[in-house]
Amino acid sequence: MWGHMNAARLPAAYPQYFARAEGCRLWDVEGREYIDFMCAYGPMLLGYNDADVNRAADKQRAEGDIFNGPSARLVELAELMVDTVAHADWALFQKNGTDATTICAMTAREATGKRKILVANGAYHGAVPWCNPYPNGATAEDRVHLIRYDYNDVASLERAVAQAGDDFAGLFVSAFKHDLGKTHEAPTKEFAQAARRLCDKTGAALIVDDVRAGFRLHMGGSWELVGVKPDLSAWSKAIANGYALGCVTGNDRFREAAGRIFVTGSFWYGAVSMAASLAAIAKMKQIDAVGVMQRMGQRFRDGIDAQARAHGVKLQQSGPVQMPVILFDDDAERKKGWLFCTEALKRGVYLHATHTMFLSAAHQAADIDRALEATDAALAEVARQFS
Ligand code: PMP
Repeated sequence: MWGHMNAARLPAAYPQYFARAEGCRLWDVEGREYIDFMCAYGPMLLGYNDADVNRAADKQRAEGDIFNGPSARLVELAELMVDTVAHADWALFQKNGTDATTICAMTAREATGKRKILVANGAYHGAVPWCNPYPNGATAEDRVHLIRYDYNDVASLERAVAQAGDDFAGLFVSAFKHDLGKTHEAPTKEFAQAARRLCDKTGAALIVDDVRAGFRLHMGGSWELVGVKPDLSAWSKAIANGYALGCVTGNDRFREAAGRIFVTGSFWYGAVSMAASLAAIAKMKQIDAVGVMQRMGQRFRDGIDAQARAHGVKLQQSGPVQMPVILFDDDAERKKGWLFCTEALKRGVYLHATHTMFLSAAHQAADIDRALEATDAALAEVARQFS
């Protein structure tokens, strides 16, 4: 196994293989059932196996998926993305988040004729050499044009822009600060406005990486919450509710440059995932999925806070309620965090101690309450072992 879903990186109690899933429930190959708070690390925004999305995908599959070019779904979906995403004048589709972030970087360089790309310390934008968080298998030259800054720190951003000088092509910002194992933070208005101002001043592209958060915080794009429009955005995970799709949206200033770069993939025109995305986005709007996830996420957060107080366990919940992370105080080695998760897992609730977790619009109050019974027992165990 590899990457972020490599179960060997999780405690031994975690299942490695899964058999099926429905709504917010997941079954492993041993037949154990879990209420899931990872949503396949993001994609399942409407819940697993959503009937409306599946119906649209099945209908398209019966007509065909891969042809010598796109189906009409491509045009319909590009129009829907442009109607939905506030900054978007055009859309370009791929399969993965990394495809989307890489195309954003290429478009920024092509449009500006410059090379430097700014990324925040600790931020994840994909696993290809230009942005891979680990050195293995890449060369120093692969990242020679990356410059780091600290998220939400205007002075550090200004220093990075100064370092880029007249070679500044683009600035990547995560939708919010959601680094692995770290307290999650919303972008401050001051930081978001500074990012916009510095890009306007220099002509560089402001790029929001909405791969993880896209459509969970705001249907118009996550930075609508701070009132700042990016030039380019990268999307993937949830936009087709589990069908493989990536997307770059951009404004008119970057349209021609996006058309000049050569990017492609054998499956990028696949119509099934586009049909799924059309149905998924329509349903997200129809049921106000963001509102549902906020209500359920708040219920979960309030419940855990009350339980932590009752058990005398100190922990911090951060991130938007629909994308939480729970970090325990005095827990540098994450022993409390993983004990909590393992105890919850034994009781049928799948959590993660360091990665952003995800609510879906399929989580209902009864599921949250059932999960809270497990977290209560898990917190009691943390209190018992660590007090
Ligand atoms: N950007 C962010 C913020 C992500 O969370 C991820 C995936 N975890 C990516 C980019 C890369 O997406 P993918 O794994 O689909 O290539």
